[in-house]
Amino acid sequence: MTLLRSAILSALALAATQANAQAPAKASAAITEAGLLGHIKTLASDDFEGRSPGTPGEAKSVAYIEQQFKQLGLKPGNPDGTYRQAVPLLGMTPTPKFSYQIGERKVELRAGDDYVAHSSGSQTSVNIPNSEIVFVGYGVQAPEYGWDDYKGVDVRGKTILMLINDPAIPDPKDPAKLDPAMFKGAAMTYYGRWTYKYEIAAKLGAAAAIIIHETKPAAYPWDVVRNGGLHEQFSLLRDGPDPDAPPVPGWIQLDRAKEMMAAAGYDFDTLKQAALTKDFRPVSLKGTASFQVENTARTVQSNNVVGLIEGSDPKLKHEYVICSAHWDHLGIDEKLPGGRSKQIYHGALDNASGTAALMELAKAYKALPKAPKRSVLFLATTAEERGLLGAKYYASHPLHPLRETVADLNIDGVNAWGKTEQIENVTSGHSSIDELLVKAAKGQGRMVQPDSRPELGSFYRADQLEFAREGVPVLYTKARSKFIGKPENYAHDMVDHYVAHDYHQVSDDVRSDWDFSGAVQDMQLLFQVGYDIAQGATPQWKAGSEFKAKGDERLKRK
Ligand SMILES: [Zn+2]
Repeated sequence: MTLLRSAILSALALAATQANAQAPAKASAAITEAGLLGHIKTLASDDFEGRSPGTPGEAKSVAYIEQQFKQLGLKPGNPDGTYRQAVPLLGMTPTPKFSYQIGERKVELRAGDDYVAHSSGSQTSVNIPNSEIVFVGYGVQAPEYGWDDYKGVDVRGKTILMLINDPAIPDPKDPAKLDPAMFKGAAMTYYGRWTYKYEIAAKLGAAAAIIIHETKPAAYPWDVVRNGGLHEQFSLLRDGPDPDAPPVPGWIQLDRAKEMMAAAGYDFDTLKQAALTKDFRPVSLKGTASFQVENTARTVQSNNVVGLIEGSDPKLKHEYVICSAHWDHLGIDEKLPGGRSKQIYHGALDNASGTAALMELAKAYKALPKAPKRSVLFLATTAEERGLLGAKYYASHPLHPLRETVADLNIDGVNAWGKTEQIENVTSGHSSIDELLVKAAKGQGRMVQPDSRPELGSFYRADQLEFAREGVPVLYTKARSKFIGKPENYAHDMVDHYVAHDYHQVSDDVRSDWDFSGAVQDMQLLFQVGYDIAQGATPQWKAGSEFKAKGDERLKRK
């Protein structure tokens, strides 16, 4: 080969690489503010009735997303040739009874005022007589911190009492702060979520798991527990017991828990203090609890919506990148005053906006000159608002093997307030998607910051959690700080105002002062990260993530 020829060839190769690098940037121009707004206006309209699973609002939502997926040229995401995955749900409204006997003290607690409890699984009547009560501290088993509150004590068939949140261990250098080396300091880890506490209780065979409510660490008063706890509870419809909850999960009001411990001769504060060390061992309250839960039950047939872009690489197309967003919201509350429109939970930002973004992302992928190497699955989940149930169902009944699912990029609520200098990575510290995000953000001239509100545990309160729990690396971002050209308190005012006044209220509706220029940027960023993964970057869990062990397990699956 002459020197000239090889120079020409390498110049051609360089041009091809550059064109390749520009392909996603060009395609991402398909994501537009008007596109987002159009979908949101439809999904959040009165006509869609607040998109509650199993209602006419679901039928409209699912049909709309399916039609959009088809129109975009996505293939059916379900191997059965459809765009739907049926998700059967069970709704149960509990009437519980809870009493205990410790020594001479026999107490019948009042449902609502003193405690809330329901039953898991599909049985409408659950009876747990005289089960030994054991205080298990925070109820946490965290090998990466050398922490085990159970110490091999058999809690099968027992009622376990647990503290809220993850262990709040003071920093040895500054006891006014929390130790950043243990359970991520002030940030919440998954061990602090009540869902985790019920899961570990189920895994260890406890009959009942009761969390002691404390207003400050919970960040919400008992009334919130009372209001939520005795309403209809949704779960996945299944034959056997729920693997993620003991037969009776519940909460107890702090003063009642203190009385219970006092009856056994223990002081709550002393036990709580003891629970802050690795040496803590479960403490039997030398008494028994009895539960009787009667339910009225109904089944609800709901659907995830799935569309697919098949990968272009013969080998890598059998691997999947999932982009997800929940389509459901809270429906209608006919008890609210002010007429029909004031009774509909429009869920415009939560999460008509994410669903809209999902369709805009699909549009960008379709605008690529060539499909990416790996396949990309667009998953619009149901029943997120009922406990991440659509995502949980997908993760436990995957349409494409999770072993071959390399990432889930989830969207829950887009930024409606303009461009930002930075994007917050809520899932930061968990996987090598962090570095892909930093690189892509740099390309936009933006910075990546960790979650600015880690104490809220946002990681654990949206659909990506269900993928992480199965070992699939995840990304979930929020743009809620450093708005360009806006006063310092703007982020605070807009975001906090939404959370205080519109989040999960009927007023979460389409607004004329929205500015989706930031959302477009965020979705272009997500598109670039997803594209990089789809082209072959394989995310890895990081040591120290509470999901790494699950990730290792996933890769061993057949
Ligand atoms: Zn929500």
